[in-house]
Amino acid sequence: MCDPGLEDPSASAPAAAAAPLGAMPAAAAAAAAPSAPSAPAPHPAAGEDLPDGIGAPGRRLLIRGGAVLSMDPAVGNYATGDVLVEGKRIVAVGSAIEAPDAALIEAAGKIVMPGFIDTHHHQFETALRSQLAHGILINDGRPANARNYYETILQSFSMVYRPQDVYISELFGGLAQLDAGVTTVMDVSQIHHSPEHSDAAIAGLRDAGRRAVFGYFEGWGDKAKYPGDAARLRAQYFASDDQLLTMAMGGEIYLPGAEESWKIGRELGLKIALHVVGTFGMRDTFDQLAASGAFGPDNIFIHMTGMSDMAWKAAADAGAHVSLAVPIEMHMRHGTPPIQKARDLGMTMSLSSDVECTMTADFFTQMRALITLQRMSVNEAALSGASDYPDLMQCIDAIGHATIAGAKGLGLEARTGSLTPGKEADIVLLDAEALNVAPLNNVPGAVVTLMDRSNVDTVLVAGRVRKWRGRLLGVDIGRLRAELEASRDHLFAAAGQDRNLFA
Ligand SMILES: [Zn+2]
Repeated sequence: MCDPGLEDPSASAPAAAAAPLGAMPAAAAAAAAPSAPSAPAPHPAAGEDLPDGIGAPGRRLLIRGGAVLSMDPAVGNYATGDVLVEGKRIVAVGSAIEAPDAALIEAAGKIVMPGFIDTHHHQFETALRSQLAHGILINDGRPANARNYYETILQSFSMVYRPQDVYISELFGGLAQLDAGVTTVMDVSQIHHSPEHSDAAIAGLRDAGRRAVFGYFEGWGDKAKYPGDAARLRAQYFASDDQLLTMAMGGEIYLPGAEESWKIGRELGLKIALHVVGTFGMRDTFDQLAASGAFGPDNIFIHMTGMSDMAWKAAADAGAHVSLAVPIEMHMRHGTPPIQKARDLGMTMSLSSDVECTMTADFFTQMRALITLQRMSVNEAALSGASDYPDLMQCIDAIGHATIAGAKGLGLEARTGSLTPGKEADIVLLDAEALNVAPLNNVPGAVVTLMDRSNVDTVLVAGRVRKWRGRLLGVDIGRLRAELEASRDHLFAAAGQDRNLFA
């Protein structure tokens, strides 16, 4: 399971694409070494060579002449601008930066912006993609909904996962999002049936080579150690703050023992993330927590559908973060996404893909769902003759929820989320000359209302190029897909589920 199918001999880790380009972080190299396969080094896509040494300590890179959308008001935007990177960090953003010693990426015709940030993604379900395309969250008694998320995914499929199933889904799902420009994720892995399952989840995140918050959530069965294995995991994998992987604690309030998981998370200094869903019967418990003063700025509340005004106010007053999975919430009956509520309270709100068994994890879909739903509600109020109604969301707001707000929610705003000197270079170049985008007339508008993942041209994570001119580097996708399909076959057989392609 530790053979990730990566082409590079020394880089089955965050530097998967980049070993010929520079040194990988020592911790990642050590972690990756035992499993590193022997194979030829990757070569950039034909047509335009990737400059040498990008991402190596001290190596400078100039991304030149793009439309720079920094997502930092203090930095500003540039119709034609440059981003200078040194090693893994951004050192300057401006127009006509002089850096004759730097490697060069020409960005004319590209939008240059921070990578997207997904604050809630159950990556272990990648092998089950679209298996539950019509599923709602819980059984409502109707025959059409007999196959639902709680029973089909959580109580059936997830019970038969082996560590290698966790690994390949984590890796494949992570690479897929990286390819789509999502450079940071919080993985909500509710699959910790044993410490080996936990180790496999972390290995999959590591080998995908992007920035990730490992969300340590529950598991099931005799060997499950949640939440008691948290200190071991923190010490073994997350001792350094200077790495791509960090950790958050799952603290689900619909499970017994939530107090214990919150306590452990806070003792370890971790963010505490949990699903908060009215249709899952959590409102009373959430009210009690709100009234007891339990909320803090370390809380990440996912969905927040169907909660009381009192609890919302307590969450806002505490500085808690809200993560909305808008398409999933609409599709799976979580309740109406509380976009306006979070906006009215001035809360930091990020976006999350949730589950690919039911919906895509790309962030253009996320942003479009967010902005169109918010505007539909406001427009409906306007059409109904209301004398006062909220402001319509702007495209730049949607991009903020998809980037810097996520960084703040995950406690990573000093590292990522905007093109700010001092932050690490998590950068995407989007093709604004493509058939579905040209001519470029409005940068945020092009990103939110026109683009899709086919426009993600180049992706950098911490200064390393992971996708170059349309192609993910250093990865044997065919081989990984075969492993994913084998895992999928095991999961369906072991769970006794039929795979009906036309259901
Ligand atoms: Zn979820």
